Formats: sequence, structure tokens, C-alpha cells
Amino acid sequence: MNTVFAPYPVTALPVLGVNQGFPVRRIFCVGRNYADHAREMGAIDQAEGREPPFFFTKPADAVVGGAGENSVAYPPLTSNLHHEVEMVVALGAGGANVTVEAANALVFGYAVGLDLTRRDMQARAKEKSHPWDMSKGFDQSAVLGPICPVASGGHPVAGRIWLTVNGQLRQSGDLSAMMWKVPEVIANLSTMVRLEAGDLIYTGTPAGVGPLLRGDVLEGGVDGVGTLRARIV
Ligand code: MN
Repeated sequence: MNTVFAPYPVTALPVLGVNQGFPVRRIFCVGRNYADHAREMGAIDQAEGREPPFFFTKPADAVVGGAGENSVAYPPLTSNLHHEVEMVVALGAGGANVTVEAANALVFGYAVGLDLTRRDMQARAKEKSHPWDMSKGFDQSAVLGPICPVASGGHPVAGRIWLTVNGQLRQSGDLSAMMWKVPEVIANLSTMVRLEAGDLIYTGTPAGVGPLLRGDVLEGGVDGVGTLRARIV
């Protein structure tokens, strides 16, 4: 059927080693998946053991991505824009009620991502038990480097995840510290929605989140996956 105006173009991310893009469908994000970050947010008592994972989303058109320096506009309505560096899972196949054992087979590749957050707005939302959409899912809130396909990088389960701002180390952790591992995250999320090829899953951030200013230059990386570069403008 003809549409009343041209449909919005699909967002695509570059894939390392091939001349084809990865078409983004939806963006899911896990909250508080590293104990040290949960603790810095005042949100965990590790003695209680791990809580079930919880998820929020960003719209696919919030993606800013690519191999070079990504320009990200400082968003309105915040004076406390925070960085969260994360490993991002890119699905190449879908499924519902996927088992932990079968979950890795859905993964096309991995990328380094930034889950940009209006921390002040999020704090107000938490106080009032309001949703996080506008503190997490604003324009250009999902920054991503190129996707490293499983075919060349495998499934990283350990290794450094880090972020520098203007050359200074702000976040440093290890993938092995994730409370919910990637296959468990996929399995859990697939009980709530049917996952599809093109879906991205941000897997949580280690400690060290903090504020960004216009002009800041960010570089993040995950061992075995690659790097991400961005500038706040
Ligand atoms: Mn996050």
C-alpha cells in the first residue's frame, strides 16, 4: 500500500569487515547489571543476591553510530547528562522463550555502546515512580560503534570494558562482572517479548558513570569487540 508520506528510513550500523549495514529494529537496555554500578546508584544490597533483570527501551531512531567520531548534541532539559559505557548485543535471529543454552545462536555480533542518560530527570522520575522513557530514550541517546560479528570476534564473556573522557579514564570494569550474563539476559527478555533480528540489547554499565559537558571527547572500548568515539556538541 502507498503511504501518506515516505516511511522513516531504517537505521543501519556498520559491520566490521563487510560492506553491509546492520538494520536496527528495537533497542532494549538492562538496568543495573554490574554490582559496582548498582551500588554507586544506591540501589543494591549484594547480600540479598541478584534481583531479576529489568529492562527499559530506547527508540531505534535514537541511534547515532559509526566507526568515526560520532557527533552527539547535548540534549535539552537536563544539566546532568551522564555516560554509561556498555557492551551491546546485536541479534541476527529472533525467538520467544529462548533457553539460556540456545541464546547465543541468536547473536549476530557485539558493539560498544553509550547509554546516555538525563540523570537529573531520571532521579525525579524515580522519586515519583514515573517511567524512565524521557530520561533514557531521548534523541541521540543510543551511541554505538560498529558491530563486530560473532564470525570474527566470537562471544566475549570476559575482558575489559572502559571509557575515557578527554583522555581521562572514567569507567573501567570487566565483562565477567555482569550479574546477568548475555545468554541469561536474552533468555529472560525473550519471555517478555518475542525477540527479532535487528534488535539491540544494551547489557549494563560498570561503575564510574558521570556528567558530560559540551566539547567532551569520549572513547570507549570492550576487549575483543572494538571501540567507540563520540564528541558532545
Ligand atoms: Mn545503562
